[in-house]
Amino acid sequence: MKGLIVVKIGGSEGIDLDAVCEDVAGLAAEGRPLILIHGGSSETNRVAEALGHPPQFVTSPSGYTSRLTDRRTLEIFEMVYCGRINKEIVEKLQRRGVNALGLSGIDGRIWSGPRKKAIRALENGRARIIRDTYTGRVDLVNSDLLALLLDAGYLPVLTPPAISGEGEAINVDGDRAAAATAVAMGAKTLLILSNVPGVLADFPHESSLIREIREEEIESIAQTAAQGRMRIKLLAAQEALAGEVSHVLLGDARCDAPISRALTGEGTLIHKKAHGS
Ligand code: ADP
Repeated sequence: MKGLIVVKIGGSEGIDLDAVCEDVAGLAAEGRPLILIHGGSSETNRVAEALGHPPQFVTSPSGYTSRLTDRRTLEIFEMVYCGRINKEIVEKLQRRGVNALGLSGIDGRIWSGPRKKAIRALENGRARIIRDTYTGRVDLVNSDLLALLLDAGYLPVLTPPAISGEGEAINVDGDRAAAATAVAMGAKTLLILSNVPGVLADFPHESSLIREIREEEIESIAQTAAQGRMRIKLLAAQEALAGEVSHVLLGDARCDAPISRALTGEGTLIHKKAHGS
């Protein structure tokens, strides 16, 4: 869809949802088509603790960290992502005159893909196989449904989980789901907002912000600078650029007008060709 921007809002501490929604409302009023995708990790951790089912994380042999999602965790995850956070964002947008519509990836099979049969996790340097996790990846985006909603003037607000071929809810990474959505919808720009200014060469020093990354540099930066969750964002950027997305922007959501600022060049720009070409 022409001019469409896919915006992923992180779920970590510090994100200013009011500022994001204010910015979205301004852009929507100018007629800019948008799809919002959000996380909810820190709130899920809090609720899981409060419910006596503390969060657990695993690190794969390739160094990616993810939530260990048993059935109870999935239920708590849905309460927070699809309930608390999704409705909070929809309410904030509705209050600003945006006809937002909140859906998870399981609704109308917006995001579908295989459930992992087992995951490999590193524990004290040793690999362990974990079964019975409700995790997977997005292979297919129901772009017809999203186009229908956008054409009818709704602003979709999407959140994991996704749905497996067998009809099970699966926890998927929000950044990668956002990349798949941007590719499927033909968006040229994917914007990933979180609680850092962008990719930092020397994390956590914010003055070490990397302003520009070419596609072919992603791999080495993922190996050297980025740790933990930032590596998944770089993987998502790689997946988006492998599709028809031309710009992936990583921006800060702790300030006013976070989307507009990222679009005007604050943050990290990850792109296909040398700048200006
Ligand atoms: P979200 O919940 O917004 O999707 P995460 O918190 O999962 O985001 O991922 C962003 C986090 O990545 C930052 O808060 C930071 O702690 C971490 N990080 C690791 N390495 C880097 C880096 N080189 N530059 C920026 N952030 C980094």
